[in-house]
Amino acid sequence: TLGTDWAVAWVRRAAEVIAEHRVELITLDREIGDGDHGENLDRGFTAVLPKLDALPGDSTPGDVLKVVATTLISTVGGASGPLFGTAYLKASGAIAGRAEIDATGLVELLTAARDGVVLRGKAEAGDKTMIDAWTPAVDAAAAAAESGSDEREVLEAAAAAAEAGAVATESLVAHKGRASYLGERAVGHRDPGAQSSALILRAAVEAAR
Ligand code: ADP
Ligand code: MG
Ligand code: MG
Repeated sequence: TLGTDWAVAWVRRAAEVIAEHRVELITLDREIGDGDHGENLDRGFTAVLPKLDALPGDSTPGDVLKVVATTLISTVGGASGPLFGTAYLKASGAIAGRAEIDATGLVELLTAARDGVVLRGKAEAGDKTMIDAWTPAVDAAAAAAESGSDEREVLEAAAAAAEAGAVATESLVAHKGRASYLGERAVGHRDPGAQSSALILRAAVEAAR
């Protein structure tokens, strides 16, 4: 099972990976949006780091995710702040009070995160948004857990599916967010929020090593 150490390591690794890919995310968003996605997320995750150090010693994984949620909501802005914030808030609620998360718990966490994004943003699969990374991730995680995979394997399945989902957004026309203003001109470009979602899920695997 995965505990608070994993949750904290996930957030720290996500902050590192977002910082490393800041320019790449800005470039993707410049092509089909307003060019701020890398900056938005880097600001948000950087703001979370000092709050992790201030967490009480008896904090649960859900407490960690809740700090991420409130920080992203208050610091990121744009479309992605409330979307990722709601994802983390719902994920936190799904595992509230548990000290350890098993494979099934991870599926509950990821499902709640995805459902939070849908609740907030109303995007459907194929709309060329972060949902096109999250939904394949949830489905792959559920299938892995169903077949008896351990926590690390469930996260690996989720991250791999999110990466493939992000790549697959390249061929889509957008129906939500700024890229929807471009019509066919968005085709051939990867959705920045799907790419950052895949990076964040990859960080979850790396934290479970
Ligand atoms: P903004 O578009 O306000 O500048 P960001 O650049 O930070 O915000 O985030 C853009 C990303 O947000 C998009 O790439 C897309 O993945 C995601 N997004 C935008 N609108 C929605 C929505 N309604 N549902 C899900 N995701 C969305
Ligand atoms: Mg933007
Ligand atoms: Mg913006």
